[in-house]
Amino acid sequence: MSVDAFVGLGSNLEDPTAQLARAISELAALPDTEFVAQSPFYASRPVGPQDQPDFVNGAAWLRTRLAPEALLDQLQAIEQAHGRQRLRHWGPRTLDLDLLLYGRERIDSDRLTVPHPELANRDFVLQPLLDLAPELTLPDGRALAALRANCPDNRLRLLPPLPQTPGTSG
Ligand code: ADP
Ligand code: MG
Repeated sequence: MSVDAFVGLGSNLEDPTAQLARAISELAALPDTEFVAQSPFYASRPVGPQDQPDFVNGAAWLRTRLAPEALLDQLQAIEQAHGRQRLRHWGPRTLDLDLLLYGRERIDSDRLTVPHPELANRDFVLQPLLDLAPELTLPDGRALAALRANCPDNRLRLLPPLPQTPGTSG
């Protein structure tokens, strides 16, 4: 049985747009997983410490037979392959991959909180999700579009599309 899962991507170090483009290709190659679509990328002001570069953010829509923890293992392996180091909370990073939604499931384990707890407060997460699925709702029924209209402003700027990315080529 396959589940629709949404992954948030973020980077603000070492050519963030290229980090995200590479991560998209890596997500497209995950085992037991189909790549459905990717969102456009956005630039945004950092949350938390302001003495760091702007972020580039996006989202990917996957259809997977991996269990949530197995999918998280895969996301963390990709983060590691991008040289991710955990330096400080909400600090700069080469790649952050968050499991935003896993079907209609609510998960609260040591390793995983789904829906992602900050999802409702972050325009740079909500906007790419809405680009992928305008009618998307949370498991508790709240519409993402309504959350987007009421969340703090991180000065999102839509970035120009990349030439060759999975789902848009051909
Ligand atoms: P953040 O994304 O909040 O800046 P990190 O990427 O450093 O933080 O992740 C810290 C921990 O968050 C990970 O070790 C992971 O186990 C946990 N975590 C909990 N829920 C999720 C989720 N939905 N997606 C990704 N990681 C999660
Ligand atoms: Mg993370």
